[in-house]
Amino acid sequence: MAAGPGKVATAGFADAGGGADPATQVDLAVVGGGIAGLAAAWRARRAGLTVRLLESAPQVGGKIRSERVDGFLIEHGPHTFLGSATPLWQLLAELGISGHAVQAQPPSWRFVHRGGRTRRLPTGPWSALTGDWLSARAKLRALAEPWVPAASRPDEDLASFVARRFGREVADGLVAPFVTGVYAGDAAAIGARDAFPTLWQLERDHGGVLRGALARRRASRGSAPASASPPKRRGLYSLRDGMATLPLALADQLGPGVVRTGVAVASLTRAAGGWTLGLRDVASEGSPTQTLHARAVVLATPAEQAAELLQGTSLDARTRLSRARSCAMALVHLGGPETPGQPRGFGALVPRGEDVRALGMLLPSSLFPGRAPDGHQSYALFFGGAQDPAAAQLDDATLVQQAQESVRRVFGQGALAEVTFSRVVRWPAAIAQYEVGHRARMQAACEALLADAPGLFLAGSYVDGVSMSDAARSGAAAAEAATAFRSTL
Ligand SMILES: Cc1cc2nc3c(=O)[nH]c(=O)nc-3n(C[C@H](O)[C@H](O)[C@H](O)COP(=O)(O)OP(=O)(O)OC[C@H]3O[C@@H](n4cnc5c(N)ncnc54)[C@H](O)[C@@H]3O)c2cc1C
Repeated sequence: MAAGPGKVATAGFADAGGGADPATQVDLAVVGGGIAGLAAAWRARRAGLTVRLLESAPQVGGKIRSERVDGFLIEHGPHTFLGSATPLWQLLAELGISGHAVQAQPPSWRFVHRGGRTRRLPTGPWSALTGDWLSARAKLRALAEPWVPAASRPDEDLASFVARRFGREVADGLVAPFVTGVYAGDAAAIGARDAFPTLWQLERDHGGVLRGALARRRASRGSAPASASPPKRRGLYSLRDGMATLPLALADQLGPGVVRTGVAVASLTRAAGGWTLGLRDVASEGSPTQTLHARAVVLATPAEQAAELLQGTSLDARTRLSRARSCAMALVHLGGPETPGQPRGFGALVPRGEDVRALGMLLPSSLFPGRAPDGHQSYALFFGGAQDPAAAQLDDATLVQQAQESVRRVFGQGALAEVTFSRVVRWPAAIAQYEVGHRARMQAACEALLADAPGLFLAGSYVDGVSMSDAARSGAAAAEAATAFRSTL
């Protein structure tokens, strides 16, 4: 059962089988009902466009899915969003559900299991320099960063960028686990500019990261506060009944006339005054049963499916999209009775090469209320990713056993004495990998579409950032571009 404000948007493809659909022509068709597609449909509706959103799964949300099982509230995908995630806060406010947001309860400790030891990560640059995380030599090297000559290159990987500016120990000990946590990726393949453009820009604009950060801080202190600026929120948040509350509320308020689930877009062809989409009712396998005509289309599927739909439309955009990579992941949820030795905090990361197979784990019941029944605790462990794809393919029983072992190795035997609940969730294409050159390729794909396929726009977590908030922002931006395009016709 999906958690959220009621079950919505399950209106399937009512006309499958050949019945006449009274609305086969719309201003905008949105393909994909993840947060990017829903944000696009929401923004376009508010701008006055007629919209149809088509989602192949039986429910909206894409990677965002929450489930209550045996008293545990589990997330299939994202668990948290940041206080600074403006696009999400804006959607929550517009939907009237800001009150569902819950802030993570302290402590916010993050742990790293490295060299067979579990230690708390520094909470910022100061604690990194004063604590025992780095050797004295590494601290001196990191402090010398302002004097390292600038040599920014757009094609530098993140591990090399950080090692060049701050030293190898900071790259391996602090940044590599962080990249595992965000991208399930490999810092030696992820691009510095692609994944952390702000950091890269600091060197580019100011000659160094620390210099740049100080300059920005001074500039922001000097500028007068905008009276209408929204309150600054800090820390991490979730939604009381699970992250799925947001996509379900979007679909609910857009209504079944706009959102169709269980309908896959099988083809996309140029037609007079727009685009023709071939639709397939997922329940009745077979060739497309109906078409929809749209003046503009937002493709809000993962990159792989967008590339497929572009067949015969823009070879240039298609070729670039085909180079986008994502990694497979399996999530293992574990629950059991509370113990005196159970950990508290955000969770733990495990760099590769340790005696623990999990990439990392979150502590949902420590972070948010209502995630486990009274007297119980819960864990969410991540397996697979770019560096250990085989782990995502292990069978359920092996994954659950590896998960228990991982918890006990990282937090000790007393952390989870007994497992009374387990659940495995799999994502064959979990997280977009912002490899070196990814952003430039996606930018070029968007530009190729403008030239080759006017009226087609891309949105999703592979376009302009990997988080839910980034995906929502890309959806809103695509809707704005589509609205502007519509007004030129
Ligand atoms: C395990 C995991 C943990 C994560 N943790 C976090 C986190 O804590 N915080 C955070 O901010 N982000 C997190 N993320 C990332 C975030 O969830 C995603 O980046 C974001 O939800 C992606 O949204 P999207 O709309 O771009 O794509 P998706 O959610 O993938 O949606 C795309 C939709 O398109 C549909 N579709 C595909 N092809 C077609 C077709 N031909 N016709 C119709 N529909 C189609 C799919 O069914 C899908 O529903 C996590 C992701 C995963 C997998």
